Amino acid sequence: MKVVILGCATSTGVPIIGCQCHVCTSDNPKNKRTRCSVFIESRGKNILIDSSTDLRFQALKHNITRLDAVLYTHSHADHTHGIDELRTFNFVNDMVIPCYGNSFTINNLKNNFGYIFDGVYSAGGKPKLELNIVEDDFDFDGMSIIPVEINHASWMILGYRIGNFAYLTDCSGIPSESMEKLHGLDLLIISALRYREHPAHFNIEQAIQMTQKINPKLAVFTHMGHQVEYDTLLSELPDNIVPAYDGMEVELD
Ligand SMILES: [Zn+2]
Ligand SMILES: [Zn+2]
Ligand SMILES: [Zn+2]
Repeated sequence: MKVVILGCATSTGVPIIGCQCHVCTSDNPKNKRTRCSVFIESRGKNILIDSSTDLRFQALKHNITRLDAVLYTHSHADHTHGIDELRTFNFVNDMVIPCYGNSFTINNLKNNFGYIFDGVYSAGGKPKLELNIVEDDFDFDGMSIIPVEINHASWMILGYRIGNFAYLTDCSGIPSESMEKLHGLDLLIISALRYREHPAHFNIEQAIQMTQKINPKLAVFTHMGHQVEYDTLLSELPDNIVPAYDGMEVELD
């Protein structure tokens, strides 16, 4: 299984439009972050987690030409607003793309993107997507996908575990039942927004503490704002934790 971090920014992206701070104006490409998403290649299948605002750019950069499924963590704009780009994959592969999320997310997708899902709109192209509500572990083409419920302020959203990899973004808390699903990870990708606390996201200190409880072989911090400078954070983190950068790839057994 290969995991590619397509984007590791918080909702604004980094640089932020109009910002002149030292991270937004940094020459280090690892400080240039598109909106948060990962791409997984496993057993000949291509799975996307979240259709970020930057999906078109990310797919072109990584030459992604086929998607077999999209797993949605939640319905915030930065994680969904690339949904219209899924049309192109419909054209290229002549297939409807199955999409997965919890019932709250699926309902929000239907409401937010009525032109795709209301069955009425007929004025032009729209993505062909099949929505599936995730209630429990499910099998996708021989791959076991385990939803992991996490808190995102007052929302209950989903992370996902596939094999010994787990992806938990936009996380402000992990219920104890979900901690039980996170034993024995080789790779944990978890969000760490910034240094200061935030009501809807772990800050860096909270993400470090949670990572130490989960104790994966490697943890990668994602969904980072412009307060986070790559080299500085790398030098501050424990040995088994690194900051993400766009295009980072991890191969897993
Ligand atoms: Zn987000
Ligand atoms: Zn900035
Ligand atoms: Zn969010």
